[in-house]
Amino acid sequence: MSDFSGYLCEGNLVAGQWIGADSGETIDVTNPATGEKLGTVPNCGAVETKRAIDAAHAAFKSFSQTDLNTRVGLLHRLREALLDNQEALAQLLTAEQGKPLAEARGEIGIGAAYVQWFAEEIRRAKGEIVPAPTGDRRLLVTRHPVGVVGMITPWNFPSSMLARKIAPALAAGCTVVAKPATATPYSGLAWAKLCEEAGYPSGTVNILTGSARGIGGAIMEDARVRKVTFTGSTEVGKELIRQSADTVKKVSMELGGNAPFIVFDDADIDAAIQGAMVSKYRNMGQTCVCANRIYVQAGIHDAFVEKLTAATAALKVGNGTEDGVEQGPMIDMDAVEKVEQFITDATEKGGKVVQGGKRHALGQTFFEPTVVTGATQDMAFATEEIFGPLSPVFKFDSEEQVVEMANATDFGLCAYVYTRDLGRVFRLNDALEYGMIGVNSGLITTVEAPFGGVKESGMGKEGGSQGLDDYLDTKYVAVAGIK
Ligand code: NAP
Repeated sequence: MSDFSGYLCEGNLVAGQWIGADSGETIDVTNPATGEKLGTVPNCGAVETKRAIDAAHAAFKSFSQTDLNTRVGLLHRLREALLDNQEALAQLLTAEQGKPLAEARGEIGIGAAYVQWFAEEIRRAKGEIVPAPTGDRRLLVTRHPVGVVGMITPWNFPSSMLARKIAPALAAGCTVVAKPATATPYSGLAWAKLCEEAGYPSGTVNILTGSARGIGGAIMEDARVRKVTFTGSTEVGKELIRQSADTVKKVSMELGGNAPFIVFDDADIDAAIQGAMVSKYRNMGQTCVCANRIYVQAGIHDAFVEKLTAATAALKVGNGTEDGVEQGPMIDMDAVEKVEQFITDATEKGGKVVQGGKRHALGQTFFEPTVVTGATQDMAFATEEIFGPLSPVFKFDSEEQVVEMANATDFGLCAYVYTRDLGRVFRLNDALEYGMIGVNSGLITTVEAPFGGVKESGMGKEGGSQGLDDYLDTKYVAVAGIK
């Protein structure tokens, strides 16, 4: 086991200094697999956040003017720092969040890939010269970093959710004030240390832990913070959108999901099972793009259920640091209780638990991977995000019917479709109200493509060329009087 103590930062980085809260208060951080205390982090609030914004605002003046080559070089060093310490960072992530080590290694790896992607993409952040209506003018469109960016991130991907924000911000020449989730602060604070190691100037990256309302409130009300990027629940996202109005900030919102996973009669069933397993049970079902509702066409329904049940029963549950473990603990007892409520609601309305269905014998927050059949549109998980290792299987007859069922939610993040009918793929691309669609794949996140949802799953994209746009303002310059 790699020693992660070098990245277990018990301070906050503000204006180039590692600080505690002014009050001296701290918050305990525990390992969800064992219940053991890992350490503490400062319980900071509005006052410390204002200092961080002061520093980020001051640093922006020079950092935004840094040569492109310098910014790209810093990003390459940041990527190297991540990869040189991938094992320690992955161990830290598993210790505070619970996911299996293989997934944690993958998360650090994709974080490094985002840093590399934006180091490459910033070189192509071109402006435009627009044809002018008269010969005495030249019309230019130029691009500029937006300014100080506030970032608030969730516990389920505590490292890579920051990667998708910090990398484009620093590539563009913005400075950062970030708040990671309280349950998993160390993977977020590790970014502060990594940025220091890469050589970012003091005040460029500030990361604070503590009161969500205190830190979040100070970020939202300060006019010097020109953009806020948030990943988390739709409920909190809506509150932040409301708060952003007073200072007219740009906002990017990566919010909740309720992904339909649709399997048609003509699908390759084994491929669909493999896709369902990775989509449903990654991170113990705690991802925003997890299959939330599995719709299976009547002709293959029973065969699919049989295979899904067997594959679910075979999942190895345990501490994420143990070899071969595929399912770690859930993040906390609230998450366990929420899954139990979904199961109770479903069984009261006629659903049948065919696999799992209860807390795991390992105790803590471990839960048995579960399959419920006979799912119907009046059950709570049809419209709400499960965020746990529970697969509800719905039966459907026609394409038209399943499109209607799939769209009957306020969310619109990701949908999955298994079919071999090419015409159907394009019909569904038009009909499904989702920001991302996986066709014959249950895992589609990649740095090259824009990740993000529609409807109440949010606005803005992360990754792809679009992932940089939100960190740049365009300016139009009319140069007149040319003879
Ligand atoms: P959450 O409760 O909304 O928390 C997310 C972050 O917001 C945390 O840092 C939290 O701080 C902070 N926060 C909470 N209340 C706040 C407030 N009033 N003002 C400012 N900040 C506040 O979400 P979560 O439970 O951590 O994460 C799970 C959710 O994230 C799910 O809905 C999931 O679908 C979504 N998610 C979406 C994506 C995507 O890309 N679309 C990716 C991953 C996750 P504390 O930790 O201190 O409470």
